[in-house]
Amino acid sequence: MSVFLWVDNPAIDAIISPMPDRYFRIYKKFYLDELKTHLMTYGALSGTCANCKHMDLKIDTLKCPECNTEFKYIAFQNIKEHMPKMLKISHEQPQIVFVDYEDFKRIEGEEKAKGILG
Ligand SMILES: [Zn+2]
Repeated sequence: MSVFLWVDNPAIDAIISPMPDRYFRIYKKFYLDELKTHLMTYGALSGTCANCKHMDLKIDTLKCPECNTEFKYIAFQNIKEHMPKMLKISHEQPQIVFVDYEDFKRIEGEEKAKGILG
């Protein structure tokens, strides 16, 4: 009887089977500069340093060759296209945090507008 209980228990089954990787978008408070100075934005084929605008960066670049900033954040312009890259980076560089590109561009735009108007 105890053997049947073991097999039929879904909680135990969930522990045994490997859990698939899933991504959840979270919201965290940043100062724009704090984010921007350590951010790489990634387009179709290569990355750009958000700090100094140096282009043609490989996805696994840890430091900008131009301004020497350490990349802690990556924002993909097209997140759906780059899902396999995200999985690979999370595995190889678990310290990297993925930031929503639209959020970054919108807030950067707002700050620029403030600078012009203010
Ligand atoms: Zn740079």
